[in-house]
Amino acid sequence: MNRLDTILDKDRLDPDDLAVLLGADTPAKQASVLDAAYAVKIREVGPVVYFRGLFELSNLCSKDCLYCGIRRSNQKLERYTIPIDEILSGARWAWEQGYGSVVLQSGERSDPAFVDLITELVTKIRALSHDQLAITLSVGEQSEETYRTWFKSGAERYLLRIETSDPELYRRLHPADHSWERRRDCLRLLHSIGYQLGSGVMIGLPGQSVEQLARDILFFEQERVVMIGMGPFIPHADTPLRDAIRNFAWKRHAQLALALRTIAVTRLYLPDVNIAAATALQALAPNGREQGLMAGANVIMPNLTDPKYRSAYQLYDGKPCVDESATQCRGCLEGRIASLGETIGFGQRGDSRRFLRRNAAGADGAASC
Ligand code: SF4
Repeated sequence: MNRLDTILDKDRLDPDDLAVLLGADTPAKQASVLDAAYAVKIREVGPVVYFRGLFELSNLCSKDCLYCGIRRSNQKLERYTIPIDEILSGARWAWEQGYGSVVLQSGERSDPAFVDLITELVTKIRALSHDQLAITLSVGEQSEETYRTWFKSGAERYLLRIETSDPELYRRLHPADHSWERRRDCLRLLHSIGYQLGSGVMIGLPGQSVEQLARDILFFEQERVVMIGMGPFIPHADTPLRDAIRNFAWKRHAQLALALRTIAVTRLYLPDVNIAAATALQALAPNGREQGLMAGANVIMPNLTDPKYRSAYQLYDGKPCVDESATQCRGCLEGRIASLGETIGFGQRGDSRRFLRRNAAGADGAASC
């Protein structure tokens, strides 16, 4: 038995195994890793895909991450904030369609008007859905008071991508006033308040090693992350990392393969977390999200943002489905998921099993507010 098979045969992976699996880049080795992860997914979370209806509610952002298309320095962008009534009618549609959950995502702001906007949206979405729609917030670093306000209003899940668990790599990708430590502390705060905690990283960053990606997966475990949303790094033409585009044409296949392996190894190491098949996978291959599901992901975030806003919310170049309505998006995804022999968990919240198990065991330390 070769080293890869020996590792895949283990009941429980060691931290040292992760980089070996992440580096398994021949087609045969890649297939072995992905097949093993899919088997673990079927055993642990079943052949069910949970939908999270995504609203990209505003592209205003106070930060300037070097890789991001909506960074505050990008002057080419028309900035927008979707009116509350449009979001609420979209959320009602999602609830009527049987979605168990919606995600409110935007650039990062912490001014009082923004805090109030999110509080109002959370309160009203919970009310219109008779508390059935679970709400995930993905609106960046905030104060403890703000996180607590939104939790009390009814938001139960929070997604805050650490982007990389390596502080030095983080520093190379952000201006000097952005702090990896502050972001890590926000994750700890969110967990202590009681949120179902989500995070994620970019995969295939310039200068990133498989050892760093392995440490990212260990970081998820250490910080008690139970929802994981990570995607391949794709350069954006209007950012300081635009030069990476020059080499990107030939790199697309390798980026996709590495992203799929990272999903698979995460599933193998953390069998009962929720993992999203990021839309960015589909920017690298037309069936990228399906490949993500076959690598171990179990969540998809159909975009419910009105198409008139979508082209102004491109975090990376080549984002797919920018002109599809929510209804078209749902139809397209249903067909794709059925073709894999999986079903969609309509009418189910799809909470992370890892989160539920920890809470049931009383070991998660989550405080009630
Ligand atoms: S990654 Fe997030 S915080 Fe950074 S510029 Fe983009 S939207 Fe703003």
